[in-house]
Amino acid sequence: MSVALVTGASRGIGRVIAENLAAAGYDVAICYSGNEEAALETIELCKKYGVQSIAIKADVSNADDVAEMFAQVKTSLGTVDVLVNNAGITKDGLLIRMSEEDFDKVIDINLKGTYLCTKAAVKDMMRAKKGRIINITSIVGVQGNAGQANYAASKAGIIGFTKSVAREYGSKGITVNAVAPGFIQTAMTDGLPDAVKENYLKQIPLGRFGTPEDIANTVAFLASEKASYITGQVIEVTGGM
Ligand code: NAP
Repeated sequence: MSVALVTGASRGIGRVIAENLAAAGYDVAICYSGNEEAALETIELCKKYGVQSIAIKADVSNADDVAEMFAQVKTSLGTVDVLVNNAGITKDGLLIRMSEEDFDKVIDINLKGTYLCTKAAVKDMMRAKKGRIINITSIVGVQGNAGQANYAASKAGIIGFTKSVAREYGSKGITVNAVAPGFIQTAMTDGLPDAVKENYLKQIPLGRFGTPEDIANTVAFLASEKASYITGQVIEVTGGM
């Protein structure tokens, strides 16, 4: 049985990624930052597929938490074969009003969290001579977005990180790719004003917002044997946005 770890999988896109990997037969570990009830719901959804699933409270931007999380996954399920760096936050605002604290927080969780978890996973993957790392970036990291300079910088950073790590570990049988969602209906986007949502919708040729399933299907493909010759890529899942 192979093991997948999905960060930030108590809800939203991460939850559905975890479910899809469970459906594909992976034992699934998930992490969350505070929402234990939602995390326990996710692992129950995964267990319906007859696999093992555990939830771990960990802040991906904290090196000690990440080390402890990987140790727990190893003890309970085994070494991680598929890592999905999905945990992410926004703290939007125009640059002139963006506090240093809000800038640092977004970079720490989105970008440094991806670095810490990838570094922890790569060691065992090198020993196993196989592994899949899938980083959730954003179309905003490709195109930029007014009011999201911190978020866009973190997500653009993830793209550079993905391409570099793919080059470093390709010879060890490890693939590293990024998925760049467009506008996906989750708690992260639910709070936006209707006028903002309508404006985004006008920019989507396929005429609908994305769902967590749209992203989870792409992640499941990248984790599968069918994607074994793809590395260092950014797959945009945006409805053409
Ligand atoms: P969401 O619904 O807000 O869920 C965020 C998840 O991240 C939750 O499970 C949360 O845990 C966890 N999390 C937050 N801070 C964390 C930390 N420090 N350590 C560990 N886990 C943490 O977000 P989403 O919309 O599903 O987004 C998932 C990913 O997709 C993010 O990287 C986001 O940037 C990216 N994305 C989303 C969209 C979109 O339109 N929604 C578009 C492009 C990219 P708790 O439940 O415990 O708080």
